[in-house]
Amino acid sequence: MERTNQNGTLRLQDVGKKVVLLGWIAKTRKLGGLFFADLRDTSGYVQLVSEHPDELPDVRNEYVVEVRGEVRKKDVPNKNLPTGEIEVVIEKLTVINKAETTPFIIADKTDALEETRLQYRYLDIRRPVLQNRLKTRAKIVRLFHEFFDSHNFVEVETPVLNLATPEGARDYLVPSRLHHGRFYALPQSPQLFKQLLMIGGMERYYQIARCFRDEDLRADRQPEFTQVDVETSFLDQDQILSLMEEALAKIFKEVADYEVKLPLRRMKYWDAMDNYGSDKPDTRYGMLLHDLKPLLSDVGFQGFEGAEYIKGFVVEGVAGETSRKKLDELNLEARKFNLKGVLSLKFENGALAGSFTKFLDEEKQKALIEEFGLKDGDLLLFASSPYRRDIDFGLGALRSKYAKELGLIQPNTYDLLWVVDFPMFDPIEGEPGHYSAEHHPFTRPRDEDLPLLDSKPEEVLAYAYDIIINGYEAGGGTLRIYDHDTQWKIFKILGLSDEDVARKFGWFIDAFKYGVPPHGGIAFGLDRLCMILTGTDNIRDVEAFPKNLQAVDPTSKAPGEVGEDQLEAVGIEIKKEA
Ligand code: ASP
Repeated sequence: MERTNQNGTLRLQDVGKKVVLLGWIAKTRKLGGLFFADLRDTSGYVQLVSEHPDELPDVRNEYVVEVRGEVRKKDVPNKNLPTGEIEVVIEKLTVINKAETTPFIIADKTDALEETRLQYRYLDIRRPVLQNRLKTRAKIVRLFHEFFDSHNFVEVETPVLNLATPEGARDYLVPSRLHHGRFYALPQSPQLFKQLLMIGGMERYYQIARCFRDEDLRADRQPEFTQVDVETSFLDQDQILSLMEEALAKIFKEVADYEVKLPLRRMKYWDAMDNYGSDKPDTRYGMLLHDLKPLLSDVGFQGFEGAEYIKGFVVEGVAGETSRKKLDELNLEARKFNLKGVLSLKFENGALAGSFTKFLDEEKQKALIEEFGLKDGDLLLFASSPYRRDIDFGLGALRSKYAKELGLIQPNTYDLLWVVDFPMFDPIEGEPGHYSAEHHPFTRPRDEDLPLLDSKPEEVLAYAYDIIINGYEAGGGTLRIYDHDTQWKIFKILGLSDEDVARKFGWFIDAFKYGVPPHGGIAFGLDRLCMILTGTDNIRDVEAFPKNLQAVDPTSKAPGEVGEDQLEAVGIEIKKEA
């Protein structure tokens, strides 16, 4: 089709030009005998004007039209539009296609329910805000491609129909037609294949990989998502981190014009947990957790008897407005993290106030005030737990809840850091001596911790690292075990029998007999990176056709039922609900 310009690119220097434009009618209005409309295409809007409305065909919102006309300078510019200094005088307007009234108005600002927007996603995508997010996403992918290409990485695709992979989530299963009773699992990540590529001598691999995990969904989690997946041979942890942070710096510069200072900070896992109550700390605000065990374990409060951990933090300036109801809300939140609840003390008129003061003599009160440097209006929240992770995660969740509520986070600020030295194992609560893998079972323990594998597995730290941006885990990886004996030892600690290993990973472990290079890698969560760089906290905003929280695609309504013949072909009978 003939088209001279994209609507959103017209400027003052185009005044006087004859143009042919295409697009959707976004808004029409009649004013003093004149007809105005906005014409939208993927580049933006331009205002159309006609002095002879009676000569125009009937045009309404979302009609697709061709406009021939001349660009002229506007008397009063519209400062809100990049094209606001000009308008196009219609000489001929042709309707290419009509449209029914849309279920919601197509504009950046909308009060349409998200479910409605997702059902009519193709209309939602007409909104510039959404188009811009998808464009940013494409730009990030392009920058990754450029970066990896210039560093001699080779993009390799790996299969989607697989044996189960080891990321620890529930698999999506695909029944096999040729082998009834057998199933493929969709990849939770390309983990094992990328390691095989290293054994295959590829040395530097990457892939923009679709991954599938059948988990409960949240604002930052989708059942299918995209990882920027990377694996390298012969690089140590520092070399991998430096290379990867260089890629991130390039992306932040080109997408957000933000200068990331390299090298990025590296924070040890237990420092992050102890101080921020999170393995993905947002360090843009304070409210650090303090260890209060030395101070409070002996005050005679029954709830603290036998508590391994007592910790607390201070929220500034909220004591006055903290009601009973608010404290109940905090308790509910804390219970989600296995804490019995949170206790509180206020600091008002130069003194501690609250029922807990009856457990504190003058000396203890003074010590507590000094510990936090308390000021009038401060609220001290504290709790106890037998488990280190429970107390940290519980209080950490309250800390970030307050940061959001109090607006402590400046918009458009970025906080990037590595969390390193993760524990190798996660002790299974209530089952002493039993462990799950903190990352996955191929993660390499730190050399200096190898002797602890037999005696104190819970103390073994790993060559594992996460990239944390604004409190999100934007990626993570590990160095991998490359010797057979350590690998088997890890399987044993994880309680996997020889048969389990042979069934799940035998095909993979076999390759370890044939010369494995030291290797390691990382996977970035593309969706989360896009969220951060487009300033949204909803992962569905950065995917063209996301699933809703019930894992349903509101546009097509997938998952759907299938016909008897299809079920028969794969040898499956559906159990009737009782
Ligand atoms: N496969 C890992 C994951 O998806 C990342 C890695 O270890 O490279 O979390």
